[in-house]
Amino acid sequence: MKILVINAGSSSLKYQLFDMTDETVLAKGLCERIGQDGKIKHTAFDGRTYEASYDMPTHSEAFNCLVYALTESDAKVIDSMSEISAVGHRIVQGGYIFSQSTLVDQKVLEDIEMLSELAPLHNKAHAMGIRACLNVLGDKVPQVCVFDTSFHQTMPPKAYIYPVPYEYYEKYKVRRYGFHGTSHRFVSGRAAEFLNKNLADLKMITCHLGNGCSITAIKGGKCIDTSMGFTPLDGIMMGTRSGSLDPSVITYIAEKENISPKEMCDLLNKKSGVLGISKVSNDNRDVSNAAKEGNENAALAIEMQRYQIAKFIGGYVAALNGLDVLVFTGGIGENDPSLREDICQSYLTYLGIKIDREKNLERGKEVEISTADSKVKVLVIPTNEELLIARDTMKIVSAL
Ligand code: AMP
Repeated sequence: MKILVINAGSSSLKYQLFDMTDETVLAKGLCERIGQDGKIKHTAFDGRTYEASYDMPTHSEAFNCLVYALTESDAKVIDSMSEISAVGHRIVQGGYIFSQSTLVDQKVLEDIEMLSELAPLHNKAHAMGIRACLNVLGDKVPQVCVFDTSFHQTMPPKAYIYPVPYEYYEKYKVRRYGFHGTSHRFVSGRAAEFLNKNLADLKMITCHLGNGCSITAIKGGKCIDTSMGFTPLDGIMMGTRSGSLDPSVITYIAEKENISPKEMCDLLNKKSGVLGISKVSNDNRDVSNAAKEGNENAALAIEMQRYQIAKFIGGYVAALNGLDVLVFTGGIGENDPSLREDICQSYLTYLGIKIDREKNLERGKEVEISTADSKVKVLVIPTNEELLIARDTMKIVSAL
C-alpha cells in the first residue's frame, strides 16, 4: 500500500510518499512560496531530484505540481496517482473534538476549519491542503487527519485547566491542548520497543527539542501532562518563542511600549526565546558557536534553555511520581550531546541518572546514552512524525 503524507502550511506543502510494505520513503518534497511565485523541490528514494518554478496561486496548483513530480518528472516514482491508496494529513489543532486520527468527511473538514479559531495560521492551511487533495484526486481516495493535539487528550483536568475563571473554559474552551503529540507518541512507542519493555509499564518523559520545544509526561503510554498549552507558545523557551512567563510581564511591556495584542503575540512568538536573549539567532548551532566565542548573551540563552528543560523534567518526575525512561528527540535533542550531558549531569543526578559520555557523542541515531547502572534509561530516539501519520492512515483505511 502506498500512502502520501501531507503537511500543509500557509504558503508551503511538504509531502512524503511511503511504500507501507516496508515503510520506506519513495519520495519526498516541498512546494513553497504558494500564493507568491511557487517552487517545488522533490527527491526520489534513489537520489534523483526535480526542482522547478511554477505558478502556485493556491494549494491546488501546488498539489498538481506534486502530482507531476511523483508521476511524470525525471524523478518520478510512480506511473499514476491511482497507485496511491490514501492520503494522511498532519493537522496541528484537533482541539476538544478529535482525540484520535480520523477519516476525512465533510463534517471533519468543517470542524478543522472551525478549530482554526484556536490555531489560525495552521488549521486554515491544513484545510486548504485537504481541499486541494480533493480537487485533484477526487473523493475516491480516502484521506485521514492525524492531529498534533490528540495524544494529549488523555491529560486529566488538573493538568489541562488554567487557573483563570472557569467560565472561559466553558465559554471558549480555553485550556491546555499540547502539541507535537505525534512526535511524543512515536518516540515513546519506539523507546519501549528499543528497550524491549511494555509501554504500559513505563513512566516516561519525552523531550521534543527543536525550533519548537515541548516536554511530555507519559504514564503507561498515555500523556498525563505536557509543556505546550493553549497554543504552542507555552512551556520552555524555544528558538523564537518565549515559553511560559509571568502574564504581568506582558501587560507591563505592552503598556510601556504601547504594543497592541497582535504585536505582542508577534513579539512573544517570533522575537523571543533563544533569539530574543542571545540577539544572535534562533538556531542553537549559531548560538552555541557565539557562546564559545565569548558572547555572554548567547551563553545566557543556552544556559537558560537547559535550566528550563531540566526544571520541566523535574516537575514531570513529580507528576509521574517516578521515572523509568527519559527520551531526547527533535533537531536539538537528537544532535546536541553537550545539552543532553549538561541537563543530565548538572540537574538530574539525584534521580540516579548516569550518562555514558562516549555513547552520548552519537548524533541523529537511536541510542541509549545512559550507563548500564543508571537508575533511569536515557535514550535518543530520532522522531518520525510522517511515518506515524502513514501508519495511522493505513490502519484506518485498511478497516474501511
Ligand atoms: P527542528 O525544528 O527539529 O528541525 O530542530 C532545529 C534545531 O535543531 C535548530 O535549533 C538547530 O540548531 C538544531 N540542530 C540541528 N542540528 C544540530 C546539531 N548538529 N547540533 C546542535 N543543534 C542542532
